[in-house]
Amino acid sequence: AVPLVVAVSTSLAAKNGLLIRDRQAFERTKDVQAVVFDKTGTLTEGKFGVTDVVAVNGDTDEVLRIAASIETLSEHPIARSIVEEAERRGLELEKVDDFRAVPGKGVEARIGGVLYRIVSPGHLREMGLEEIDEARRLAEQGKTVVFLVRENEMLGAIALADIVKQESKEAIANLKRMGIRCMMLTGDNRLVAKWVSEELGLDEFFAEVLPHEKAEIIKKVQERYVTAMVGDGINDAPALAQADVGIAIGAGTDVAIETADIILVRSDPRDVVRIIELSRKTYRKMI
Ligand code: ADP
Ligand code: MG
Repeated sequence: AVPLVVAVSTSLAAKNGLLIRDRQAFERTKDVQAVVFDKTGTLTEGKFGVTDVVAVNGDTDEVLRIAASIETLSEHPIARSIVEEAERRGLELEKVDDFRAVPGKGVEARIGGVLYRIVSPGHLREMGLEEIDEARRLAEQGKTVVFLVRENEMLGAIALADIVKQESKEAIANLKRMGIRCMMLTGDNRLVAKWVSEELGLDEFFAEVLPHEKAEIIKKVQERYVTAMVGDGINDAPALAQADVGIAIGAGTDVAIETADIILVRSDPRDVVRIIELSRKTYRKMI
């Protein structure tokens, strides 16, 4: 049987958009010592806007046009904003073949038989290619930068800016006040991660993390703390499963929602504070 106080809390939570899927995980929530947040879509809006396009040969519309042609086939938030910007500029897109997404690294496809890639700074380094100076400057401003490469030739870069949620700041301040360490995990580059981390007053961050490494990082954090992970993406599912408490936030993807112990219906990081407080109250009453 479910103790009455727990049943009451569970239904009270549900009324407030906090869905408890695993009651034992909800009980563990009172002991959480560290919360690891995914960046994109969790602490930030996850809605990028293209801010700058850099072209090695000066033709920025051409860089955007090729990139958008490929990105129409990707569902990543970065892809959507590149396509939107190309549409806004009225650029005519090409038909592409052999599209492939490389999780955490970028996408590739052929246009007229020629291979094009749109990649992260990390993957660019792996390919043995040099970043463009201009791109580094943009990254230092906290922007996400991706590179367009034709075969092994650098064509240009696209910078995108996301917005840090106002609610994130309040959530982190409150968690820290409760004695909980706040961390962030992201596939995005180190400079962006550092910028967001300082903006929010996070205790630690992990950047340029590949999808399969997210769960490994949670394991490491668990050696030190009882750990909750908060995320929304397909990439986050293994990390949500690994954490002592897995929390899916917002609309999220089905995979994240199916894996999580707790689902926060709103896309509001302050609900992480609420669920921890509720767990503490609920189980304190029972002792
Ligand atoms: P996160 O969800 O932590 O923001 P991802 O693992 O989804 O990160 O992506 C990590 C990085 O891989 C992105 O910051 C970007 O550089 C690159 N990337 C992923 N998907 C795409 C895409 N469709 N187009 C361009 N770059 C991409
Ligand atoms: Mg994500």
